[in-house]
Amino acid sequence: ICLVTVADCLFCRIVVGEIPATVVAETERTLAFRDIAPKAPTHVLVIPKEHYADVATLAVGDAVLAGEVLATVADVAAAEGLDGTGFRVIFNTGASVGQTVFHAHAHVLGGVDMDGDLT
Ligand code: 5GP
Ligand code: ZN
Repeated sequence: ICLVTVADCLFCRIVVGEIPATVVAETERTLAFRDIAPKAPTHVLVIPKEHYADVATLAVGDAVLAGEVLATVADVAAAEGLDGTGFRVIFNTGASVGQTVFHAHAHVLGGVDMDGDLT
């Protein structure tokens, strides 16, 4: 783990336990925890433990890890009871679309009718 990155990145600090989070799932290389400001009844963030700035960088840098993030997304959705009702997965990529934490993360949103909404 790069200590400079850990010091500077909020989600790296969650990975090493420096900042507490409500963890709902964990694999060797991924972590899922509840968003601190939930926008839906289920709002979980799924991240690679290794630092990548966004999903595009992750996909190019380690496609297998990107797949593991998606597998954890599916596991979380099932554990939250969303596999029947449906759920939304969002990767904000770039400050201009609202990315505020530059460590790749999937938002898993569900538990409310989002039909017709883009976000
Ligand atoms: P972004 O806008 O970068 O796609 O999403 C960042 C998300 O991280 C936001 O939904 C925000 O509420 C969440 N967040 C910011 N700080 C913390 C924190 O300290 N803990 C947790 N669990 N979530 C956070
Ligand atoms: Zn990071």
